[in-house]
Amino acid sequence: RAKREHRGQAVQYRAAMGAETRERARMVSDLRVAVDKDQLFLAYQPQIDLHTGALTGLEALLRWRREDGRVVAPGEFIPVAEHSGLIVALGQWVLQQACSTMRVLMDTPGAPGRMAVNVSVAQLRDPAFIHIVRTAIARAGIEGRRLELEITESVALLPTELLDSTLHALRGDGISVAIDDFGTGYSSLSSLERMPLDRIKIDRSFVRELDRPGGARIAELVAQLGHRMGLQIVAEGIEDERTLQLLRAMGCHEGQGFHIAAPMAYEELVGWMQARQGLPPSTRRA
Ligand code: C2E
Ligand code: MG
Ligand code: MG
Ligand code: MG
Repeated sequence: RAKREHRGQAVQYRAAMGAETRERARMVSDLRVAVDKDQLFLAYQPQIDLHTGALTGLEALLRWRREDGRVVAPGEFIPVAEHSGLIVALGQWVLQQACSTMRVLMDTPGAPGRMAVNVSVAQLRDPAFIHIVRTAIARAGIEGRRLELEITESVALLPTELLDSTLHALRGDGISVAIDDFGTGYSSLSSLERMPLDRIKIDRSFVRELDRPGGARIAELVAQLGHRMGLQIVAEGIEDERTLQLLRAMGCHEGQGFHIAAPMAYEELVGWMQARQGLPPSTRRA
């Protein structure tokens, strides 16, 4: 009886695996044509100086509007794109788009100083990556210092030499590098210390803990570590004023989160910037 049940579960499991694999394969083929069908767009989330309130940067976050109008979050399709290798092409599109938006925004009053783009390990592994980044900047006509690349601890999987030479070359162009979701991955402190970085981003999961008793620990430790390493510290996932104030008191330089603004499509972002500036709306578009 137990044996039969077990076998039944195995069959169910295999069937489910099959369905999941098929669905992933379908997603990859849909995603492959998403760029040509104009289904991808970027949402931009403001990053502000926690001490002055000034808009310092934007983080570009990828969105996919499917044929049926449903907007798919990156958590659903980025892992699939990474697994299939498609992330290299998608990532290139994101870089180009983000840089050209940065160029347009620079003529807008109250514009932020930089645009942050998330980069996957597979992109960094691509021998053409430096060229792709430089081309995106040059085509958009922006300076390197306008671009920030957000990498995760998973870059520790890359050969040290490749990672070092890539980051050094890009930083030589003025591009800054942030380590994203810090503390959630597997990198060792020694590998972090070796990496040429500008900013460290405190993960949302630690920021969320701030309003719980004893919960400040990890966020505070990350902030202290960042200070010791001479890095700028950015907190993500700030959802209320109290959290913002606690982070500011910890010496966190910048922050982003729903309390400040959710990620917005370009049109909405322009309105948001103008409202902050108290200026009349213009009709400028990307
Ligand atoms: P991430 O880089 O850590 O981005 C922050 C995520 O937190 C975003 O989710 C953002 O919408 C969300 N968020 C921001 N503020 C708050 C808040 O106050 N509360 C809560 N609960 N969430 C907040 P999103 O846009 O769904 O992106 C998820 C992840 O997908 C990103 O995490 C990033 O790792 C990845 N991703 C997004 N766009 C790209 C891309 O163009 N390329 C690559 N490789 N990865 C991307
Ligand atoms: Mg990020
Ligand atoms: Mg993050
Ligand atoms: Mg995160």
